[in-house]
Amino acid sequence: MHYHPKSDLLNHRIILVTGAGDGIGREAALTYARFGAQVILLGRTESKLASVQQEIAARHLRPAFIYALDLLTASQQDCQRVAEQIAAWVPHLDGVLHNAGLLTDITPMAEIKLQDWMDVMQVNVNATFMLTQALLPLMLKSASSSLVFTTSSVGREGRSGWGAYAVSKFATEGMMQVLAEEHKHTGLRVNCINPGGTRTGMRASAFPDENKDKLKTPADIMPLYLYLMGDDSRRKTGISFDAQPGRKAGPAE
Ligand code: NDP
Repeated sequence: MHYHPKSDLLNHRIILVTGAGDGIGREAALTYARFGAQVILLGRTESKLASVQQEIAARHLRPAFIYALDLLTASQQDCQRVAEQIAAWVPHLDGVLHNAGLLTDITPMAEIKLQDWMDVMQVNVNATFMLTQALLPLMLKSASSSLVFTTSSVGREGRSGWGAYAVSKFATEGMMQVLAEEHKHTGLRVNCINPGGTRTGMRASAFPDENKDKLKTPADIMPLYLYLMGDDSRRKTGISFDAQPGRKAGPAE
């Protein structure tokens, strides 16, 4: 995507990023902070969140908050507590990037372990839903807020072996469409991003043998992540965007 945002695009914005300790989420959090946002970093591993927080402080950007939560075990009450803590820190939320995700073994449907299926649904669908429900009131307090879910090419067209992960991303697309429709007359817009193959730990676990040098890095795909959090996307809702339009799904050669 060719998008050249102004350096103050996200000034005065308050944005929560899930899975902010690593991979795409880490880069998104640092990028949002660089463009002026105050970020709230949510993730599983507190030390990784603290390192992102320190990096933001070292660059003299707006101080970040951190909240450690394992979405695999998170209950509705835990998600409510997240919202209560955020409400104690800040008056509203202008953006939420649901980025945390779980991918288990690539294996045929017939062989998927039930626990793997449950875990993927819990992290990618149930926890995402529960967090969204808890955070909606804070988002609706902003005059213009952006809710972004993370999808995948296998969430639009099923592919053999991608089982629970693919089904969870179809559910994510559905959640986005329903919410977008429900909020089309409010200040909240709701969209999905498909990052496309991107050089991260998750990608390496799915395609250990591909040529990593041919993959985009998280930093390369940030233009779309910025576009959807800033005012330039104000009228866009209910859309599933590609961070790498035209990229063919599958391993990089
Ligand atoms: P990574 O595995 O590199 O990072 C995922 C992040 O999510 C990590 O910070 C991880 O925490 C966090 N996370 C995972 N499980 C939990 C949990 N139970 N509770 C809280 N946080 C958790 O993944 P990517 O950056 O590659 O992926 C980001 C998103 O993009 C995902 O939704 C993925 O499905 C999607 N995606 C990625 C593609 C790619 O090629 N990379 C392609 C298409 C979609 P921790 O650091 O503690 O492990």
